[in-house]
Amino acid sequence: MADIIQLLPDFVANQIAAGEVIQRPASVVKELVENAIDAGATQIKVNIKDAGRTLIQIIDNGCGMSDTDARMAFERHATSKIRTANDIFAIRTMGFRGEALASVAAIAEVELRTKEYDQELGTFIHISGSKILVQEPVRCDNGTNFQIKNLFFNVPARRKFLKSNPAELKHIINEIQRIALSNPDISISLHHNGSAIYELSGTNKRLRIVSIFGKSINQNLIPLDTETSVVKISGFIGQPKHAKKTFGEQFFFVNKRYMKHPFFHKAIMQCYEKILPPASFPSYFIYFEIDPADIDVNIHPTKTEIKFENESAIWQILQASVREALGKFNVVPSIDFDQSGSVEIPMPQRDFGSVHAPEIKLNPSYNPFETPTPARSFSGSHFTAKQTERPNASNWQSLYKGLEPNYDEIPAPQEKEPVQFRMEEQQTLKHSVQFKNKYILTPVKSGLMVIDQKRAHERIIYERLIQVLENNEVASQQQLFPETFELNASDATLLTSILPDLKALGFDIRNFGENSFIINGTPGVLNTSSPIEIIESLLEEYKNSSVNIQEKARETIAISLAQASAIPYGHTLKQGEINELIDNLFACQTPNFSPKGKKILSIMPLEDFEKILK
Ligand code: ADP
Ligand code: MG
Repeated sequence: MADIIQLLPDFVANQIAAGEVIQRPASVVKELVENAIDAGATQIKVNIKDAGRTLIQIIDNGCGMSDTDARMAFERHATSKIRTANDIFAIRTMGFRGEALASVAAIAEVELRTKEYDQELGTFIHISGSKILVQEPVRCDNGTNFQIKNLFFNVPARRKFLKSNPAELKHIINEIQRIALSNPDISISLHHNGSAIYELSGTNKRLRIVSIFGKSINQNLIPLDTETSVVKISGFIGQPKHAKKTFGEQFFFVNKRYMKHPFFHKAIMQCYEKILPPASFPSYFIYFEIDPADIDVNIHPTKTEIKFENESAIWQILQASVREALGKFNVVPSIDFDQSGSVEIPMPQRDFGSVHAPEIKLNPSYNPFETPTPARSFSGSHFTAKQTERPNASNWQSLYKGLEPNYDEIPAPQEKEPVQFRMEEQQTLKHSVQFKNKYILTPVKSGLMVIDQKRAHERIIYERLIQVLENNEVASQQQLFPETFELNASDATLLTSILPDLKALGFDIRNFGENSFIINGTPGVLNTSSPIEIIESLLEEYKNSSVNIQEKARETIAISLAQASAIPYGHTLKQGEINELIDNLFACQTPNFSPKGKKILSIMPLEDFEKILK
């Protein structure tokens, strides 16, 4: 048999490798901006067209490249950052694999202009699908200017896989946010289709955070500062009472590199336990500085996951640091912090098996939410709507038909009286009870029906919203006092992109410059007292929604909105509200499933009761 193994041609190998490094336009932005930082740039400009599909341009004032280096840079495994395998353990640069430029050049058209400071002329290189088309001397500025055009032109599968422009732009904004937060001293701008999203000048960490997330975050930031021989931790955590409904202001950085670290995230969430309003997320911006030999950034091609040698020691130091900061903010007189503001952390040399978290005295009874005002109003009116004329308003009644009287014996909690036997359907309803502030239990002829209160309410709201959309009967309830709010750039872009759809649902929201918005009206069917919170939760739900957003934008928004505004678990319902909820649920077209397809109700058959009580 003939030999069949062949070496892949370079351009094929590069294309395959590219798939790992470059998944979307944002990956290109990340790699090129990191290269600019490695080149010592203090100013980086990023210009994007059509969310990166047509153009990604990165201009830096870094060291530039010689003509040979400019050519070499596009070879695979070509890097100026490490020379020997051992260098990896001391790496402080962002890149070192020498893969990024080779990958980008394999799947796009690249124009590079670069010049070193001491040179008269720079170098121009035009490369497309790994083929060099032009290399010649050129007059250009000091530093490097990359233009990436027609990304994935030769990988149609990838191109097709890209999401909508707002979604891809959001990825780009996220990358820029991470890089800008980890390098506050560097000036960075981001323009999309000619308009500025960020124009950040070099500053300190706090001001960089404020310039990205808006002025209102400033008084919310509690500083962290802990230095030990293992790690230095600095940055900020957010005050619990300002925790947001959206997840998106949580950042870890290691040696100026953004990282994801679910384990450390958990460490922080533990510190916030019981002092956060339900379903909200605290902000944090935490910077670790650590000897590069004690971490491994090599485990992931895009390098957002990082392995720590002393993970459990750092966990304890991190918790101590966060607890101290929270305790300080708490300003309890019993806490005796010394002025230096640092935690006493015992630091054994190199052996961390026995590290203990330092003792920090916290006021255990402290509760920043002592007198919370209910976030949403769940007065009976919350459930009211013109339900009576719905065609199947009596759906539920069939469930109760033929109800054997003696099975109706689940007494309402306050009832001490012997159970009455002759019961009408309406009275059956009255015997629905709330269980664990999460379920509604109601007797039906074949057993006991359990209803998930939140899902039920989601279904009710969803069907009303869909009705609004289908019949084009937008009813917006004007706000007496229009509220303004500010979002971070990526949420602002997202919200702007769905404003027309929100309008069709009854929201009257306007953007008034930068990332600020004003709510003038909300959908009549929602009857909410805190529209800003609903918008925040909506964005969160929407971001996490797996549905193809482009095709089903309005349905997705209606689902997200229903989820965001439904009564949460843990909310006690009055008897009247329970009855209304059941009534409205069975007036729905699809009372059995939540808009996301989860079961709303289930019946525990009578036989089961008999079995368990045998
Ligand atoms: P890596 O960053 O892992 O070294 P890249 O493929 O990203 O690999 O870049 C290859 C090399 O090209 C870098 O090591 C660097 O020497 C050079 N280079 C890339 N971008 C720039 C830039 N903006 N300014 C100066 N040199 C650069
Ligand atoms: Mg690189």
